[in-house]
Amino acid sequence: MTHYVKWKGEDCWTKAPVGRYDGPMNAQNAAGLSTRALHGGREADEALVTVPKTMPLYETSVFVYEDLAQVDDYLAGNPDNYMYTRLGNPNQRALELWGRDLEGGEEAVACASGMAALMTVISAACGAGDRVLAARDLYGGTQSLLKKELARFGVEPVFVDLGTLTAADFTPSTKLVLAETLSNPLMVAADIPRLGDLARQHRARLVVDNTFLSPVLFRPLEHGADAVIHSTTKYINGHSDATGGLIVTDSAWAAACRRVVHNAGALLAPFEAWLTLRGAKTLALRMDRHTANARSVAAWLEGQTSVARVFSPELDSHPQRDLVRRLLTRGCGGMLSFTLAAADEAQALRRADRFIQSLALIQFAPSLAGVTTTVSHPGKTSHRGLSPAELAAQGLSLGTIRLSVGLEDIDDILSDLRTALEAAAGEE
Ligand SMILES: *Cc1c(COP(=O)(O)O)cnc(C)c1O
Repeated sequence: MTHYVKWKGEDCWTKAPVGRYDGPMNAQNAAGLSTRALHGGREADEALVTVPKTMPLYETSVFVYEDLAQVDDYLAGNPDNYMYTRLGNPNQRALELWGRDLEGGEEAVACASGMAALMTVISAACGAGDRVLAARDLYGGTQSLLKKELARFGVEPVFVDLGTLTAADFTPSTKLVLAETLSNPLMVAADIPRLGDLARQHRARLVVDNTFLSPVLFRPLEHGADAVIHSTTKYINGHSDATGGLIVTDSAWAAACRRVVHNAGALLAPFEAWLTLRGAKTLALRMDRHTANARSVAAWLEGQTSVARVFSPELDSHPQRDLVRRLLTRGCGGMLSFTLAAADEAQALRRADRFIQSLALIQFAPSLAGVTTTVSHPGKTSHRGLSPAELAAQGLSLGTIRLSVGLEDIDDILSDLRTALEAAAGEE
């Protein structure tokens, strides 16, 4: 039973400490030094009356029960009741509720990483003999997950160009279509409403990786997707200091995902959830500034003779201009790529290396979507396994640079890029 006591003699009742810790050391109180070292200070938390303005970090692996009825209450599904952090924790739950609200889904599940979210959502929906139609240009980690792990359990990935997906690509065992809102690094947009219709017609479900846009710029569930996943490591956290993932979908699929997460131990840790939610508070402000800065950078790059091509959904030259205008009405975020002008691939690689080395403000970091501007080199990082011919077949070159445009003053970003472009095109 919960015991209530008068708090400091005021007209206010609060929960009494339930343990046997007996207060300060004196003649009446018998607890030994080991007990005191273990339990001292507990009442500061247990007798808390005022509510903290920001959510505290619940860095605890387990929760304390007062009686057996509370165990029954937990097992009956009371969402405010916790048992063991692998099965749920208030910080992780807070991020789930945030994700559910922002993406507009019924339920959300927070995972240890974007990859954990993908593994969870696919394995909750598929078993041996099921097929997944996956975009050919998916994030490398997702391709590897499908080919190297899920395929071993009989889930068959079929890699296709989602832009030309038709009814003929579906079989009765096709369970999922897996798409990214914007591809990496060429910024190809997926026609989510069309993919959702096709999937529905064939009793398959559409999963959208919305990492590159965030729910501020696009909400796939409103356009026919059945589940959304995020690497919260990227824009949602935004500060490059925590790895995490999020799934938002209907209640039934989310319950299946939660079971996978519990059994696999793939839950997001409390501190990572806490950091992510702290970052997420400024998401709308950040996305608008990322978009404005990326728009300026893309337009400026397009005017440079040392740049052969710019890939940005913000530009009128984007091959899917109409689709982008229709779906991404608030903006396209901070990601873009460009290819340095070069006579051949050897020169392109030398120029890309000189470009990266000549940047002063902008850092070379093979991740994305943080508050500061970073560059990456797909040919040597995410697409390292591809030969020059395979790169060319995808529209990439060893002179292709991916830019994650940050929140700095635009003049400082442009000035750093100008200096590095001049250096890249300089003496061979
Ligand atoms: C980074 C990323 C992932 C993987 O997320 P992690 O948090 O690194 O596990 C998945 N999809 C996309 C589009 C990503 O950029």
